[in-house]
Amino acid sequence: MRPISEIAERVDAGQIVTREEAEAMVRASSRRCRGPLLAEAREITTRLLSDGALDKARALDTNARTPCGQDVNDLILASPLDGAERVITCPRCGTTMSYRPPRIRIED
Ligand SMILES: [Zn+2]
Repeated sequence: MRPISEIAERVDAGQIVTREEAEAMVRASSRRCRGPLLAEAREITTRLLSDGALDKARALDTNARTPCGQDVNDLILASPLDGAERVITCPRCGTTMSYRPPRIRIED
């Protein structure tokens, strides 16, 4: 198979790639479910963000979660790679996350 950088260049140019190449491109970035955020922490994080304390908000958001480890790439690859933003729910812990998959033209 071609190097990921070459596949990405072809995708960026709107060229058609194989399903295998598209999956390899998505999986080139490891994505694991970060787990649910406790309601209390969510409130505080929201307040920190509105105060512009991004680093504190990010740290709290990370520390107040118990990572569940679900491979999010599996969830992304279960839906069309059409560039359309969508919300998915982790089947292991119920955490919802929004994401925008890359728009990849895949050969039939
Ligand atoms: Zn999860």
